[in-house]
Parts: sequence; C-alpha cells; structure tokens
Amino acid sequence: MSSERPISAKGRADEKAFEATLRPRRLADYIGQDRVKDNLQILIDAAKARKEPLDHVLFYGPPGLGKTTISNVMAAEMGVNIRVTSGPAIERAGDLVAILTNLKKEDILFVDEIHRLNRTIEEVLYPAMEDFAVDLVTGKGPSAQSIHLRLPKFTIIGATTRLALLTAPLRDRFGAVFRLEFYDQKAMEEIVRRSAGILKIETDEEGAAEIARRSRGTPRVANRLLKRVRDYAQVRADGKITQAVATEALQRLDVDELGLDDGDRRVLTAIIDKFDGGPVGVETIAASTSEEVDAVMDVYEPYLLQLGFIARTPRGRVVTGRAYEHLGKKPTARARERLGLLSAAAEQQAAQQPSLWNTPEDETAKE
Ligand code: ADP
Repeated sequence: MSSERPISAKGRADEKAFEATLRPRRLADYIGQDRVKDNLQILIDAAKARKEPLDHVLFYGPPGLGKTTISNVMAAEMGVNIRVTSGPAIERAGDLVAILTNLKKEDILFVDEIHRLNRTIEEVLYPAMEDFAVDLVTGKGPSAQSIHLRLPKFTIIGATTRLALLTAPLRDRFGAVFRLEFYDQKAMEEIVRRSAGILKIETDEEGAAEIARRSRGTPRVANRLLKRVRDYAQVRADGKITQAVATEALQRLDVDELGLDDGDRRVLTAIIDKFDGGPVGVETIAASTSEEVDAVMDVYEPYLLQLGFIARTPRGRVVTGRAYEHLGKKPTARARERLGLLSAAAEQQAAQQPSLWNTPEDETAKE
C-alpha cells in the first residue's frame, strides 16, 4: 500500500515520463548534494584528463534522492552512453554476460538496486570490474570449456538503498562510494521552484516553501506533491499556489507539517501502543502495521531516523521523546525510564561517533 501514498519516496511506473521531464540533465542543474557534486566533478575532470573511463562509483541513500538522476548526469558530463539495468532484472549470470559483452568502451552501466543481485551473478561482476574480463564456461562435464573474454573498459555505477546488504567484495570494487543525504529546506525550495517552472505552475515563494517543507527532504516526493497541489489549486483556487492553498491541499492529503502521513503515524503508534515504545525489530513493526519490511526500512525508517523520531539500538528500534510529543502521547513509566537511558547512551555514542544513529551501516544486527 505504501506505493500509493503521496509521500512514498519509491518511484512508480506511471510516473516515469513525468519524472523524466523534471530530471536535471547536467551537474549545474542538479540542486543540492554539494559535497557529492564537488567530488564527482573531480572524478570527472580527472578521468577526462587521463582520457580514461570513470572509476566505478556507488551511490547509496533512501529512494527518491536522485541516485538515478546523478548517474545520468555523470554520463552526460562525460559525453558517454549509459545503459540501465537493476539487480532484480538480472536473473541469470548469462543475462549479465550478455549486457557486459555489448558494452562499448567508456560506456556506463547503471545498476539500480545493486544489493539485490544474486551472489552467483555478482561473482561475474568481480573480474569484469577489476580486470575488464569475464570467464564463460560452455558445455558440461568433461567437454566443458572455459573462455576468457576481454571487455572494453567501462564504468559501473551502482545504486542502493541498503549499503549494509552489499557484500564486502562487491563494495570494495567501487573506487568511490557516495552517500546521498536528505535535502535541506533551501535546496528543496529550489527544487520545487525549478519543477514549477518546467511544468508552468504558478507558485509564490511561500507556496513553494510549504511544499518543500512537507516533502521529507526528498525531490521525488516534492515533485509529486507539487502536482497534487496544482490540481487542488486549479479546482479550488485560481490555479496559483500560495501558502494557504498548499497547506490546505496537503492537509487533505493527510501530509502534516513535517511531511509525515498516516503510514508514518501508524508505524510510530504501533511501536508505542503495542511495544511500549520499543525496542522492537523491523519485521515485527512491519507485521503489526501490515506493511512490507522493505517499505518500513526504505521509506519510513530513514526519514523517521532523520527527524530523530526513532533510534536504532542493538535490540531494535525505539521511539524517542520527540515522537511522543509530536503525536501528543505520554510515555509509560517504563518507556520514560528507557528514554532516559536512551538519551544517556545516545549522548555517549554521539561523543564517540556522531553519526552512529543515522548510518545505514549499523542496520541493526539483522533481527
Ligand atoms: P533515486 O534513483 O535516488 O530513487 P531519482 O534519481 O529517480 O531518485 O530522482 C527522483 C526524481 O527527483 C527525479 O525525477 C528528479 O526529477 C528529482 N530529483 C532528484 N534529485 C534532484 C536534484 N538534485 N535536483 C532536482 N531534482 C532532482
């Protein structure tokens, strides 16, 4: 059900054409992610200067933050072709070999959801990425023959929402690994204004800011909400998006001032009401809210972590005091005690390693 939610960051098949029209083509149009952009510019300049293909690059981060977009931008900046596939689309090792042997020199192969490649297929990638070669076995039994095929020098760009699920040997074969972050309010406003310009939607500064604020730091969500607010503005106002129009439209879509919707509230409420605020494993959360584990991990959790509404602990997810406040709920005595412990532990952890609560690497010792 989460793919039907207006704030779901997962892409939908029926949005492909719409997304394509809004996709920035060049690095200069790609808003935000400045640190990543700076590093990419260096990679691109260096590869061009050496007249070599780009290093293999891996992007990770929640869906809808621009991993596919930046990969296409890199191909455009390098002036090379990009072939697009995904982990689940490659079912057999032979499929991957066929794709690899069709690549031309300097081509980019974009592999979305690369964590979902199956292990035997992944092994074909190792020599392909390292030595630009594949070993093919033809025939069976005593007549089996191994053929060593050389490949042109190409670049793999991998994208994943779950860095922790990538095997170490695969991860190690990427020359550069970048994490895409949720966008800040300023970048989100710019994205909304840019999209409104392309779609010829009239919106004032405050209207754009309101949509930006409720889009959970995610460009895909911003573009979708912009479209829904435009519909509302056309039917209920004079077509112009002001702050009042945006607020009304988004309230009707049940998206609150932090970008949370009914799904987020159900997840938080389930942890609070059924598990006294946690700790509880992701699978249990998914089961008790009738959501898929993937949706909980990819869509709900990263943003709730970002807001500081939940925290990861070695024993599972816990709801924080902020979330209780936002929902207007009171923690029980036991939950209060745990919250006290949590903040003491969080302070200690933060002092040692500031990003511990937020990194996907600590995808809690798989429940
Ligand atoms: P991902 O691959 O991470 O799921 P996409 O690259 O498909 O995300 O981005 C989703 C949509 O968000 C794209 O259609 C694009 O229009 C928009 N988008 C993403 N990143 C940016 C950005 N930095 N600036 C402007 N628009 C962006």
